[in-house]
Amino acid sequence: MVKYYNFDIVFAEVPDEVTLAINISNCPNRCVGCHSPHLQQDVGQVLDEIELQALINTYVGDITCVCFMGGDATPKEIETLSLFVKKQFPTIKTAWYSGKSMLPDTVSASSYDYIKLGGYNSADGPLNKQTTNQKMYRIVDGKMEDITAKFWKK
Ligand code: SF4
Repeated sequence: MVKYYNFDIVFAEVPDEVTLAINISNCPNRCVGCHSPHLQQDVGQVLDEIELQALINTYVGDITCVCFMGGDATPKEIETLSLFVKKQFPTIKTAWYSGKSMLPDTVSASSYDYIKLGGYNSADGPLNKQTTNQKMYRIVDGKMEDITAKFWKK
């Protein structure tokens, strides 16, 4: 079961998109220096298709992307929710922030428009640091194109 702690409209998490970012709880990762330890707990509200549709309906017209922030405990369920968004809202893109370094074999990259891979490592820094261990990919024709450099200001 997928649960979410809260959500926000954000501008920096996915390049060139206005994003409804939904913070998924019950994170199984234990990143050293975790920036959101509350998301490691099994807390929050159930995120099913009805709840997701209601959230998007509130912001449709204002957002260009829906991003699932986490969900590594239930990657297939997150993928199913992404495909639901694509079916119900064909003009809205989807993104997944995973804390794993590799995409699970069971998940298809083409279920998303963007995928972030990599756990948080405070020594390497977040995506906007050139030292980051994390990578952001844009999915084009099912292929993962590394666009991490878009986070680095010139
Ligand atoms: S992926 Fe890492 S940083 Fe993010 S909530 Fe989970 S443990 Fe914390």
